[in-house]
Amino acid sequence: MDVDLSEVDDLTAPPMAAPRRALTTPPDPPAAPVVAPRSHSERADAVAFEGPPQADAPLGPWGHEPVPTPRAPLDVARLLRPRTTATPMVQLFHVTKRYTREGRALDDLTLRIDKGEFVLITGPSGAGKTTLLKLIFAAERPSAGQLLVAGHAVHNLRRGSVPLLRRNIGVVFQDFRLLMDRTVYENVAFALEVLGRSAHEIRQRVPTVLRQVGLGDKLQVTPNRLSGGEQQRVAIARALVNEPPILLADEPTGNLDPALTHEIMALLNQANARGTTVLLATHDPQIIQRYKRRALHLVQGRLVRDAG
Ligand code: ADP
Repeated sequence: MDVDLSEVDDLTAPPMAAPRRALTTPPDPPAAPVVAPRSHSERADAVAFEGPPQADAPLGPWGHEPVPTPRAPLDVARLLRPRTTATPMVQLFHVTKRYTREGRALDDLTLRIDKGEFVLITGPSGAGKTTLLKLIFAAERPSAGQLLVAGHAVHNLRRGSVPLLRRNIGVVFQDFRLLMDRTVYENVAFALEVLGRSAHEIRQRVPTVLRQVGLGDKLQVTPNRLSGGEQQRVAIARALVNEPPILLADEPTGNLDPALTHEIMALLNQANARGTTVLLATHDPQIIQRYKRRALHLVQGRLVRDAG
């Protein structure tokens, strides 16, 4: 399925019910693209994101199938099954990440997350949760395997195309990462300024998203006058102000008490209900038990359970 990131910007679309996948069933590889005639500007956009074909790079999702990984077994059951209508948002094929020669932060991960899903990435400290999010955000590259985000081959993305990928991904961290000398409004506006959005759009969009996270009356205060939960709300507003199709949250409630954790989870649920695919890394057992979501459980870099 040929999914253009520009096509998945529609947050008004209802979230799609996504089929769960057993660990034993490898995900469908990206289908050969439907060769719809593209306008000149569409072709230009595709080239801008993908870059020109690279002779030594694994083949990407446009115009050709990914290179089959030798270790992938032939799955006859999958070949016979009717194709699902769900749209893959994130696909990993035998992805391994090594930071050093000795260990593997991620070890042969194969999984699929569909558009509109809310997925918990669980596991103990050091299991590889952050690494998985970093690979999706192109902050790190896989050492082996293939990684597609909305059908785009992130594993061999050209450096110049990384900002274009990141426009479509909101990120929230445990430590908020706010600019402490700027107001709440300025912190959120900054995310749009760097994308070159107009002053008019910024004036319209920033108060709207801050109202959505319950901070409509705190626009002009600096983060040091806010509680931890409020600071995380600012960070979520900043991540969502661009209406990204994907939100990555790395232990966003790690510094918060249970009541504030619930508030932050409610905001993430709202974003998901508006159509944003949410990937939430957490080792908090309360979140895992309380919020019945699909959970990808990692241990020492391996996917040991996919349940929800
Ligand atoms: P988690 O988020 O589940 O705590 P991480 O993805 O942060 O796990 O780390 C997975 C493994 O990779 C750990 O063993 C960690 O020490 C290692 N690791 C993470 N980042 C680096 C890095 N930049 N350099 C070397 N090793 C790293």
